[in-house]
Amino acid sequence: MRRARESWTTADTLATRLISAPNELANPRRIEAMERFHGEIVATSDKLQAAYAKLAGEIQQDHDIAVLTYERSIWIAGIAGAVSLLAIFCGVFVIGRIIGGSVDRLVEGAALFAKGEREHRIDVQVPPELRRVADEFNLMIGRIRESEDALAALAHLDSLTGLYNRRAFEHALSEAWARFERYGEPCCLLAIDIDHFKRVNDTYGHAAGDDVLQAISKVMIQTKRRFDQAFRIGGEEFTIILRRTDRATARAIAERLRRAVEFAQIGVNGNTIEVTVSIGVSEASDDLDAKRVVEHADAALYQAKSNGRNCVAISSNSDASDQNAA
Ligand code: GH3
Ligand code: MG
Ligand code: MG
Repeated sequence: MRRARESWTTADTLATRLISAPNELANPRRIEAMERFHGEIVATSDKLQAAYAKLAGEIQQDHDIAVLTYERSIWIAGIAGAVSLLAIFCGVFVIGRIIGGSVDRLVEGAALFAKGEREHRIDVQVPPELRRVADEFNLMIGRIRESEDALAALAHLDSLTGLYNRRAFEHALSEAWARFERYGEPCCLLAIDIDHFKRVNDTYGHAAGDDVLQAISKVMIQTKRRFDQAFRIGGEEFTIILRRTDRATARAIAERLRRAVEFAQIGVNGNTIEVTVSIGVSEASDDLDAKRVVEHADAALYQAKSNGRNCVAISSNSDASDQNAA
Protein backbone atom coordinates (compact mmCIF):
# COMPACT_ATOMS: atom_id res chain seq x y z
CA MET A 1 0.00 0.00 0.00
CA ARG A 2 2.88 2.34 0.81
CA ARG A 3 4.47 1.65 -2.57
CA ALA A 4 1.10 2.18 -4.31
CA ARG A 5 0.81 5.50 -2.52
CA GLU A 6 4.33 6.45 -3.71
CA SER A 7 3.45 5.55 -7.32
CA TRP A 8 0.16 7.39 -6.98
CA THR A 9 1.96 10.48 -5.57
CA THR A 10 4.40 10.37 -8.49
CA ALA A 11 1.47 10.00 -10.93
CA ASP A 12 -0.31 12.84 -9.19
CA THR A 13 2.76 15.09 -9.52
CA LEU A 14 3.07 14.22 -13.21
CA ALA A 15 -0.64 14.85 -13.75
CA THR A 16 -0.38 18.26 -12.06
CA ARG A 17 2.50 19.13 -14.28
CA LEU A 18 0.67 17.97 -17.43
CA ILE A 19 -2.49 19.84 -16.53
CA SER A 20 -0.55 23.04 -15.85
CA ALA A 21 0.73 23.01 -19.53
CA PRO A 22 -2.19 21.65 -21.57
CA ASN A 23 -1.32 23.06 -25.00
CA GLU A 24 2.12 21.53 -25.55
CA LEU A 25 0.76 18.35 -27.15
CA ALA A 26 3.75 17.81 -29.36
CA ASN A 27 6.30 18.43 -26.67
CA PRO A 28 8.40 15.24 -26.39
CA ARG A 29 8.94 15.86 -22.66
CA ARG A 30 5.21 16.11 -22.21
CA ILE A 31 4.76 12.84 -24.09
CA GLU A 32 7.40 11.25 -21.89
CA ALA A 33 5.62 12.68 -18.82
CA MET A 34 2.32 11.26 -20.12
CA GLU A 35 3.93 7.84 -20.54
CA ARG A 36 5.49 8.05 -17.14
CA PHE A 37 2.10 9.12 -15.73
CA HIS A 38 0.50 6.17 -17.47
CA GLY A 39 3.24 3.89 -16.15
CA GLU A 40 2.74 5.16 -12.61
CA ILE A 41 -1.03 4.70 -12.86
CA VAL A 42 -0.53 1.13 -14.05
CA ALA A 43 2.07 0.54 -11.31
CA THR A 44 -0.30 1.99 -8.73
CA SER A 45 -3.09 -0.21 -10.02
CA ASP A 46 -0.85 -3.30 -9.95
CA LYS A 47 0.35 -2.51 -6.47
CA LEU A 48 -3.20 -1.89 -5.30
CA GLN A 49 -4.27 -5.15 -6.89
CA ALA A 50 -1.39 -6.97 -5.22
CA ALA A 51 -2.24 -5.33 -1.91
CA TYR A 52 -5.88 -6.23 -2.42
CA ALA A 53 -4.99 -9.84 -3.25
CA LYS A 54 -2.76 -10.05 -0.17
CA LEU A 55 -5.41 -8.46 1.99
CA ALA A 56 -8.11 -10.70 0.59
CA GLY A 57 -5.87 -13.71 1.26
CA GLU A 58 -5.28 -12.60 4.82
CA ILE A 59 -8.96 -11.88 5.33
CA GLN A 60 -9.83 -15.33 3.98
CA GLN A 61 -7.23 -16.88 6.26
CA ASP A 62 -8.61 -14.97 9.25
CA HIS A 63 -12.09 -15.99 8.21
CA ASP A 64 -11.05 -19.65 8.02
CA ILE A 65 -9.39 -19.42 11.42
CA ALA A 66 -12.47 -17.68 12.83
CA VAL A 67 -14.75 -20.37 11.38
CA LEU A 68 -12.51 -23.10 12.79
CA THR A 69 -12.38 -21.39 16.18
CA TYR A 70 -16.14 -20.95 16.11
CA GLU A 71 -16.68 -24.64 15.34
CA ARG A 72 -14.23 -25.63 18.03
CA SER A 73 -15.92 -23.37 20.55
CA ILE A 74 -19.27 -24.90 19.62
CA TRP A 75 -17.81 -28.35 20.33
CA ILE A 76 -16.16 -27.21 23.52
CA ALA A 77 -19.39 -25.55 24.68
CA GLY A 78 -21.28 -28.76 23.88
CA ILE A 79 -18.79 -30.92 25.74
CA ALA A 80 -18.74 -28.46 28.67
CA GLY A 81 -22.54 -28.51 28.76
CA ALA A 82 -22.59 -32.31 28.74
CA VAL A 83 -19.93 -32.49 31.49
CA SER A 84 -21.84 -29.91 33.56
CA LEU A 85 -25.05 -31.88 33.20
CA LEU A 86 -23.24 -35.07 34.20
CA ALA A 87 -21.67 -33.29 37.18
CA ILE A 88 -25.08 -31.95 38.22
CA PHE A 89 -26.63 -35.43 37.96
CA CYS A 90 -23.73 -36.96 39.93
CA GLY A 91 -23.93 -34.17 42.52
CA VAL A 92 -27.67 -34.59 42.93
CA PHE A 93 -27.22 -38.37 43.22
CA VAL A 94 -24.40 -38.14 45.80
CA ILE A 95 -26.14 -35.43 47.84
CA GLY A 96 -29.34 -37.47 47.70
CA ARG A 97 -27.48 -40.54 48.97
CA ILE A 98 -25.81 -38.57 51.79
CA ILE A 99 -29.03 -36.90 52.93
CA GLY A 100 -30.90 -40.21 52.59
CA GLY A 101 -28.28 -41.95 54.77
CA SER A 102 -28.45 -39.20 57.40
CA VAL A 103 -32.25 -39.31 57.48
CA ASP A 104 -32.10 -43.12 57.78
CA ARG A 105 -29.76 -42.82 60.79
CA LEU A 106 -32.07 -40.27 62.41
CA VAL A 107 -35.11 -42.50 61.89
CA GLU A 108 -33.20 -45.56 63.14
CA GLY A 109 -32.08 -43.64 66.27
CA ALA A 110 -35.63 -42.48 66.95
CA ALA A 111 -36.95 -46.04 66.51
CA LEU A 112 -34.32 -47.44 68.91
CA PHE A 113 -35.19 -44.72 71.41
CA ALA A 114 -38.88 -45.59 71.11
CA LYS A 115 -37.96 -49.22 71.88
CA GLY A 116 -36.28 -48.10 75.11
CA GLU A 117 -32.65 -48.07 73.93
CA ARG A 118 -30.87 -45.24 75.76
CA GLU A 119 -27.20 -45.88 74.96
CA HIS A 120 -27.46 -45.37 71.22
CA ARG A 121 -26.33 -41.98 69.89
CA ILE A 122 -27.13 -40.78 66.37
CA ASP A 123 -24.06 -40.06 64.24
CA VAL A 124 -24.94 -37.56 61.51
CA GLN A 125 -22.30 -35.14 60.17
CA VAL A 126 -23.87 -33.79 56.99
CA PRO A 127 -25.80 -31.81 56.08
CA PRO A 128 -25.26 -29.35 58.96
CA GLU A 129 -29.00 -28.89 59.45
CA LEU A 130 -29.49 -32.61 60.08
CA ARG A 131 -26.36 -32.69 62.25
CA ARG A 132 -27.96 -30.06 64.47
CA VAL A 133 -31.13 -32.16 64.65
CA ALA A 134 -29.04 -35.23 65.59
CA ASP A 135 -27.06 -33.26 68.20
CA GLU A 136 -30.26 -31.98 69.79
CA PHE A 137 -31.73 -35.47 69.70
CA ASN A 138 -28.64 -36.92 71.37
CA LEU A 139 -28.75 -34.22 74.03
CA MET A 140 -32.40 -34.98 74.63
CA ILE A 141 -31.69 -38.72 74.96
CA GLY A 142 -28.92 -37.94 77.45
CA ARG A 143 -31.24 -35.77 79.54
CA ILE A 144 -34.05 -38.33 79.42
CA ARG A 145 -31.56 -41.00 80.44
CA GLU A 146 -30.46 -38.91 83.42
CA SER A 147 -34.07 -38.25 84.42
CA GLU A 148 -34.92 -41.93 84.11
CA ASP A 149 -31.88 -42.88 86.18
CA ALA A 150 -32.84 -40.32 88.82
CA LEU A 151 -36.41 -41.62 88.83
CA ALA A 152 -35.20 -45.22 89.01
CA ALA A 153 -32.93 -44.31 91.91
CA LEU A 154 -35.84 -42.56 93.63
CA ALA A 155 -38.04 -45.59 93.01
CA HIS A 156 -35.54 -47.61 95.05
CA LEU A 157 -35.28 -45.17 97.93
CA ASP A 158 -37.45 -44.74 101.00
CA SER A 159 -38.58 -41.13 101.04
CA LEU A 160 -38.65 -40.79 104.86
CA THR A 161 -35.27 -42.26 105.79
CA GLY A 162 -33.29 -42.17 102.56
CA LEU A 163 -32.52 -45.88 102.97
CA TYR A 164 -33.23 -48.31 100.14
CA ASN A 165 -36.83 -49.55 100.06
CA ARG A 166 -38.45 -52.98 99.77
CA ARG A 167 -38.26 -52.97 95.97
CA ALA A 168 -34.50 -52.37 96.15
CA PHE A 169 -34.22 -55.07 98.80
CA GLU A 170 -35.80 -57.67 96.54
CA HIS A 171 -33.47 -56.73 93.75
CA ALA A 172 -30.36 -56.76 95.98
CA LEU A 173 -31.37 -60.04 97.60
CA SER A 174 -31.69 -61.85 94.28
CA GLU A 175 -28.30 -60.45 93.26
CA ALA A 176 -26.66 -61.58 96.51
CA TRP A 177 -28.34 -64.93 96.15
CA ALA A 178 -27.06 -65.33 92.60
CA ARG A 179 -23.51 -64.69 93.82
CA PHE A 180 -23.94 -67.17 96.66
CA GLU A 181 -25.16 -69.84 94.27
CA ARG A 182 -22.57 -69.12 91.62
CA TYR A 183 -19.46 -68.37 93.66
CA GLY A 184 -20.43 -69.78 97.06
CA GLU A 185 -20.03 -66.27 98.43
CA PRO A 186 -21.34 -66.36 102.06
CA CYS A 187 -24.21 -64.03 102.76
CA CYS A 188 -26.23 -63.18 105.88
CA LEU A 189 -29.39 -61.25 106.50
CA LEU A 190 -30.39 -59.06 109.45
CA ALA A 191 -34.10 -58.53 110.13
CA ILE A 192 -34.41 -55.52 112.44
CA ASP A 193 -37.54 -54.27 114.15
CA ILE A 194 -37.90 -51.36 116.57
CA ASP A 195 -39.20 -52.48 119.94
CA HIS A 196 -42.50 -51.09 121.12
CA PHE A 197 -42.45 -48.42 118.50
CA LYS A 198 -46.18 -47.95 118.82
CA ARG A 199 -45.51 -46.53 122.28
CA VAL A 200 -43.20 -43.90 120.78
CA ASN A 201 -45.98 -42.76 118.48
CA ASP A 202 -48.53 -42.89 121.25
CA THR A 203 -46.32 -40.93 123.65
CA TYR A 204 -44.69 -38.33 121.40
CA GLY A 205 -46.88 -38.31 118.31
CA HIS A 206 -46.52 -39.69 114.83
CA ALA A 207 -44.25 -36.89 113.61
CA ALA A 208 -41.83 -37.58 116.48
CA GLY A 209 -42.06 -41.27 115.52
CA ASP A 210 -40.94 -40.29 112.02
CA ASP A 211 -37.98 -38.40 113.48
CA VAL A 212 -37.03 -41.50 115.47
CA LEU A 213 -37.22 -43.63 112.33
CA GLN A 214 -34.86 -41.18 110.63
CA ALA A 215 -32.50 -41.12 113.62
CA ILE A 216 -32.32 -44.91 113.79
CA SER A 217 -31.70 -45.07 110.05
CA LYS A 218 -28.73 -42.75 110.56
CA VAL A 219 -27.40 -44.94 113.35
CA MET A 220 -27.67 -47.94 111.01
CA ILE A 221 -25.82 -46.17 108.24
CA GLN A 222 -23.05 -45.12 110.62
CA THR A 223 -22.74 -48.52 112.25
CA LYS A 224 -22.91 -50.87 109.25
CA ARG A 225 -19.88 -51.48 107.12
CA ARG A 226 -19.52 -49.26 104.09
CA PHE A 227 -20.43 -51.92 101.55
CA ASP A 228 -23.43 -53.36 103.49
CA GLN A 229 -26.83 -52.34 102.15
CA ALA A 230 -29.56 -51.25 104.59
CA PHE A 231 -33.24 -51.23 103.65
CA ARG A 232 -36.44 -50.00 105.25
CA ILE A 233 -38.89 -52.69 104.20
CA GLY A 234 -41.86 -51.73 106.34
CA GLY A 235 -43.08 -49.19 108.91
CA GLU A 236 -40.48 -49.76 111.60
CA GLU A 237 -38.83 -52.78 110.04
CA PHE A 238 -35.43 -52.83 108.43
CA THR A 239 -33.15 -55.34 106.76
CA ILE A 240 -29.43 -55.36 106.13
CA ILE A 241 -27.83 -57.65 103.56
CA LEU A 242 -24.35 -58.68 104.63
CA ARG A 243 -22.51 -59.97 101.59
CA ARG A 244 -19.28 -61.97 101.90
CA THR A 245 -20.08 -62.34 105.59
CA ASP A 246 -20.20 -65.50 107.66
CA ARG A 247 -22.56 -66.11 110.51
CA ALA A 248 -20.13 -65.18 113.29
CA THR A 249 -19.33 -61.84 111.71
CA ALA A 250 -23.03 -61.20 111.03
CA ARG A 251 -23.80 -61.82 114.64
CA ALA A 252 -21.09 -59.42 115.75
CA ILE A 253 -22.39 -56.73 113.39
CA ALA A 254 -25.97 -57.26 114.60
CA GLU A 255 -24.84 -56.95 118.20
CA ARG A 256 -22.89 -53.78 117.45
CA LEU A 257 -25.96 -52.31 115.77
CA ARG A 258 -28.26 -53.26 118.60
CA ARG A 259 -25.97 -51.57 121.09
CA ALA A 260 -25.57 -48.46 118.92
CA VAL A 261 -29.35 -47.99 118.86
CA GLU A 262 -29.70 -48.70 122.55
CA PHE A 263 -27.17 -46.04 123.45
CA ALA A 264 -28.13 -43.52 120.78
CA GLN A 265 -29.30 -40.20 122.18
CA ILE A 266 -32.32 -39.47 120.02
CA GLY A 267 -33.49 -35.94 120.70
CA VAL A 268 -36.95 -35.01 119.44
CA ASN A 269 -38.70 -31.76 120.39
CA GLY A 270 -36.56 -31.38 123.50
CA ASN A 271 -37.13 -34.99 124.58
CA THR A 272 -34.50 -37.70 124.55
CA ILE A 273 -36.25 -40.80 123.30
CA GLU A 274 -34.76 -44.17 124.09
CA VAL A 275 -35.49 -46.97 121.68
CA THR A 276 -34.15 -50.43 121.19
CA VAL A 277 -34.23 -52.91 118.35
CA SER A 278 -34.54 -56.66 118.09
CA ILE A 279 -32.54 -58.38 115.37
CA GLY A 280 -32.89 -61.77 113.70
CA VAL A 281 -29.94 -63.21 111.76
CA SER A 282 -30.06 -65.87 109.05
CA GLU A 283 -27.43 -67.21 106.74
CA ALA A 284 -27.60 -68.39 103.13
CA SER A 285 -27.24 -72.13 102.80
CA ASP A 286 -27.55 -74.65 100.00
CA ASP A 287 -30.77 -76.16 101.28
CA LEU A 288 -32.62 -72.79 101.35
CA ASP A 289 -33.79 -70.46 98.65
CA ALA A 290 -33.63 -66.68 99.10
CA LYS A 291 -37.24 -66.45 100.26
CA ARG A 292 -36.64 -69.06 102.95
CA VAL A 293 -33.58 -67.19 104.20
CA VAL A 294 -35.80 -64.11 104.70
CA GLU A 295 -38.34 -66.25 106.51
CA HIS A 296 -35.60 -67.61 108.73
CA ALA A 297 -34.42 -64.09 109.57
CA ASP A 298 -38.03 -63.16 110.45
CA ALA A 299 -38.35 -66.28 112.59
CA ALA A 300 -35.14 -65.35 114.39
CA LEU A 301 -36.47 -61.82 114.89
CA TYR A 302 -39.66 -63.27 116.34
CA GLN A 303 -37.47 -65.34 118.61
CA ALA A 304 -35.58 -62.20 119.71
CA LYS A 305 -38.88 -60.50 120.53
CA SER A 306 -39.91 -63.57 122.53
CA ASN A 307 -36.60 -63.53 124.30
CA GLY A 308 -37.45 -60.11 125.69
CA ARG A 309 -36.55 -57.70 122.82
CA ASN A 310 -33.38 -55.56 122.56
CA CYS A 311 -31.47 -58.66 121.58
CA VAL A 312 -30.05 -60.63 118.67
CA ALA A 313 -31.20 -64.12 117.69
CA ILE A 314 -29.54 -66.38 115.16
CA SER A 315 -31.79 -68.43 112.87
CA SER A 316 -32.03 -72.10 113.69
CA ASN A 317 -31.18 -72.94 110.09
CA SER A 318 -27.67 -71.73 110.82
CA ASP A 319 -27.05 -73.35 114.13
CA ALA A 320 -29.73 -74.03 116.70
CA SER A 321 -27.22 -73.98 119.51
CA ASP A 322 -26.08 -70.49 118.51
CA GLN A 323 -29.30 -68.71 119.29
CA ASN A 324 -28.58 -65.81 121.48
CA ALA A 325 -30.32 -63.22 123.51
CA ALA A 326 -28.46 -60.14 124.54
P1 GH3 B 1 -42.88 -54.73 118.76
O1 GH3 B 1 -41.84 -54.52 119.77
O2 GH3 B 1 -43.62 -56.00 119.01
O3 GH3 B 1 -42.39 -54.61 117.39
O4 GH3 B 1 -43.92 -53.58 119.00
P2 GH3 B 1 -44.22 -52.38 118.03
O5 GH3 B 1 -45.07 -51.43 118.77
O6 GH3 B 1 -42.97 -51.84 117.52
O7 GH3 B 1 -44.98 -53.07 116.85
P3 GH3 B 1 -46.39 -52.84 116.28
O8 GH3 B 1 -46.47 -53.66 115.03
O9 GH3 B 1 -47.43 -53.10 117.30
O10 GH3 B 1 -46.44 -51.32 115.93
C1 GH3 B 1 -45.68 -50.76 114.88
C2 GH3 B 1 -45.96 -49.30 114.87
O11 GH3 B 1 -45.16 -48.63 113.95
C3 GH3 B 1 -47.39 -49.00 114.52
C4 GH3 B 1 -47.33 -47.94 113.49
O12 GH3 B 1 -48.15 -46.82 113.78
C5 GH3 B 1 -45.91 -47.50 113.54
N1 GH3 B 1 -45.48 -47.06 112.27
C6 GH3 B 1 -45.43 -47.77 111.13
N2 GH3 B 1 -44.96 -47.00 110.14
C7 GH3 B 1 -44.71 -45.76 110.66
C8 GH3 B 1 -44.22 -44.55 110.13
O13 GH3 B 1 -43.89 -44.42 108.96
N3 GH3 B 1 -44.11 -43.50 110.93
C9 GH3 B 1 -44.45 -43.59 112.25
N4 GH3 B 1 -44.30 -42.54 113.02
N5 GH3 B 1 -44.91 -44.72 112.78
C10 GH3 B 1 -45.05 -45.80 112.01
MG1 MG C 1 -41.73 -53.07 116.28
MG1 MG D 1 -42.92 -54.45 113.22
